[in-house]
Amino acid sequence: YEKIEKADGGKDELAEIGRTFNGMMEALETNYRKQEQFVSNASHELKTPLTVIESYAKLLLRRGFTNEKVAKEALGAIVNESVRMNDLIVQMLELAKNKEHASLSISEIDISLLLESTASQMRQAYNRTVELHGVASLFIQSDEQKLKQLLFIILDNARKYSEDKIIITTAQQEKTISIAIQDLGEGIAEDQIPQLFDRFYRVNKDRNRKTGGTGLGLAIAKELSEKLQIQMNVQSELGTGTCFTLLIPFIIEGNKEERK
Ligand code: ADP
Repeated sequence: YEKIEKADGGKDELAEIGRTFNGMMEALETNYRKQEQFVSNASHELKTPLTVIESYAKLLLRRGFTNEKVAKEALGAIVNESVRMNDLIVQMLELAKNKEHASLSISEIDISLLLESTASQMRQAYNRTVELHGVASLFIQSDEQKLKQLLFIILDNARKYSEDKIIITTAQQEKTISIAIQDLGEGIAEDQIPQLFDRFYRVNKDRNRKTGGTGLGLAIAKELSEKLQIQMNVQSELGTGTCFTLLIPFIIEGNKEERK
């Protein structure tokens, strides 16, 4: 776009309008570039598993009918890559939803109950020890489904990138509740932390291929936390572990759910 040059430094009304116009156009352009980058990354990320699927399917056609071992290996890889593609698509659709216009559905939530049910899911599905510490019963008003989704992303990462127990600690502060999710895993180097929330960013692509990561989880978590007015902090040390802390306000504004 053509920047309105006269806007620079002018004091009259026209210059003011010019500055507003320039600001809006700049924001649009930044958004457009981001979108373009997203589409380009997304195509690349989807193409990789598809290429693997194609080559294993060809191998299966060529040698799978006479060699059972080859058939098993090929089918295993095809299933893995299909799951990965599905994860990618589900998460990309999640990010593509226009979050700004998505309305919140506010209800009263017992944080301790919510954490207990999320932790027990984790224990059952992955046979992992999850310790819960802190305040026994805490109520907030927020969007339960979105909050659950946010907690799940962070807990699931703690599970993926560590092998030991996961420790969740809640505490009550003046107008917020803090939830700290601590793992004793591999940790994250300090200089990587600012990029963690970028779409498709993964600290170690090879390593994460094994854990089935997409690099979109924390980008979704960031959007959810903004929507829920939750402050998210990360503390980490390589080789020691990582702690994600959520500062959740007691009350956020939104549509109140009909109470039965
Ligand atoms: P992914 O699908 O790869 O897990 P995320 O967006 O959820 O994507 O996370 C981005 C990257 O941040 C991960 O690939 C991983 O390298 C790093 N990460 C996130 N959580 C943790 C954690 N608890 N411990 C160590 N590294 C983590």
